[in-house]
Amino acid sequence: VTPAADSAVEALFAAALAARQKAYAPYSNFLVGAAFRDEQGRIHAGCNVENAAFPQGACAETGAMTAMVLAGGTRITEALVLGWPRSADGAGGPLCTPCGGCRQRLREFASPDLRVHIADRAGLRATFSLAQLLPESFGPEHL
Ligand SMILES: [Zn+2]
Repeated sequence: VTPAADSAVEALFAAALAARQKAYAPYSNFLVGAAFRDEQGRIHAGCNVENAAFPQGACAETGAMTAMVLAGGTRITEALVLGWPRSADGAGGPLCTPCGGCRQRLREFASPDLRVHIADRAGLRATFSLAQLLPESFGPEHL
């Protein structure tokens, strides 16, 4: 399946790919872009931002989430993440899935049935539900 097969996914793919170009990753050289659609249909994107004090770096998903909240969005209805090393051509290789922390961050703004697309430069590679990525999760409704 290519992003062009689904215009909704294609728009997320384009936003995430553009965000990846802005990634600040001088240490890992692993550039990531993320794009989320909110409940109003708007797309918010983010890139990873590393730091010389390594733990202070931020994932692409975190940036996209901050952009969504800043714009007044409250729910993530669809997500796409892509990433690969600066030196690679971006096709094939391991799937760049959200890290464990970002899976939980997604859960704050999405239900377990959220579709999380994983792509590379060539297009869509896989689609997971958030429940697949974060089973038996703890969310806002628990509090
Ligand atoms: Zn993360």
